[in-house]
Amino acid sequence: MIPYGRQEITQADIDAVAEVLRSDFLTQGPMVPRFEEALSEHSGAKYALAANSATSALHIACLAVGLGPGDWLWTSPLTFVASANCALYCGAKVDFVDVDPRTYNLSPAELERKLVDAEREGVLPKVVVPVHLSGQPCEMAKIYELSRRYGFKIIEDASHAIGGRYRDEPIGNCRYSDITVFSFHPVKIVTTAEGGAALTNDKELADRMALYRSHGITRNAAEMTHEPDGPWYYQQVALGYNYRLTDIQAVLGLSQMERLNEYVARRHVLARRYDELLASLPVVRPWQHPDSYSGLHLYVIRLALAQISKSRLEVFEGLRARGIGVNLHYIPVHTQPHYLQMGFRKGDFSESEKYYEEAITLPLFPTMSEAQQDEVVSALMAELA
Ligand SMILES: *Cc1c(COP(=O)(O)O)cnc(C)c1O
Repeated sequence: MIPYGRQEITQADIDAVAEVLRSDFLTQGPMVPRFEEALSEHSGAKYALAANSATSALHIACLAVGLGPGDWLWTSPLTFVASANCALYCGAKVDFVDVDPRTYNLSPAELERKLVDAEREGVLPKVVVPVHLSGQPCEMAKIYELSRRYGFKIIEDASHAIGGRYRDEPIGNCRYSDITVFSFHPVKIVTTAEGGAALTNDKELADRMALYRSHGITRNAAEMTHEPDGPWYYQQVALGYNYRLTDIQAVLGLSQMERLNEYVARRHVLARRYDELLASLPVVRPWQHPDSYSGLHLYVIRLALAQISKSRLEVFEGLRARGIGVNLHYIPVHTQPHYLQMGFRKGDFSESEKYYEEAITLPLFPTMSEAQQDEVVSALMAELA
């Protein structure tokens, strides 16, 4: 089976991890700060906080901007559940903004329409989480402009997008957001096994996220209620969690970061090749906004079902039977039972649901060979014939 995504682990990665295993620190040693520096240097954001997953990073990001009971977080229905769940962890409420029909990202026009209504009803969101689906950045300048007008915070879910660019600047620089979150799960662009990070230019947000990442405990006298009792002293000043990344993982990430640009460039070569090879098939290929250089985590096609005699399910199962590990990103979050039980209904976000009826994620990963890609294309041609 050709998988839809796959990590690459080199001898250099293995050597780097082995060295940490033989060192004094398996966690909370020198590698986590070095990985954070590499993330900050790559993206241009002042502060980077590594966490044990993007889900944890989203949670501490929400806590840091003060999201709590009574507040609203808005995000896209076309995302992994974690982009919405982070609000529920904080006791806040979730709503969704439907997607743009071409990029499949949260639509700024739809966002504006919804903000106008929300202002009238006095229920403006405290946080909006734009998700860079497939690695293609959202229209951040427009979303940022709306945030100034309506007073919400922006947390970018860039789990798919490290290595991508928006208006020729790296995703993660937080020019148009308060915080940006990356994921380092093995299917994503670079990996630490499990892992994530939150980036920001705001020192206060960085300090708060550091606190929430580690039990709400501080060793900084300036953050304590009184002078330290002695050199052993620490204070718990908030309720935090253990969301720390280990040094073993951080050094893997550090080693992977050396190949980040190469990986994204290779994804672009393969995506352009897909674009050409699929041109005559009854499918919609991914459209790229001119402001974006995608991280290209995913290559999603939509079946032109009116021109095909099979259903999407049949095509999907046919491809799997031919050894092609296709996948589907994503089931609209509002249609998950946990969200239906909160009052959402099928039909609430029609553009996202239409996408869901037609989408298939084709295999794309940096070590994929042209022969493997040809195999995917032949299988698809056979299924659509
Ligand atoms: C993978 C992913 C997450 C969660 O990442 P983890 O590191 O697995 O917690 C969140 N949002 C999106 C869009 C993702 O793809």
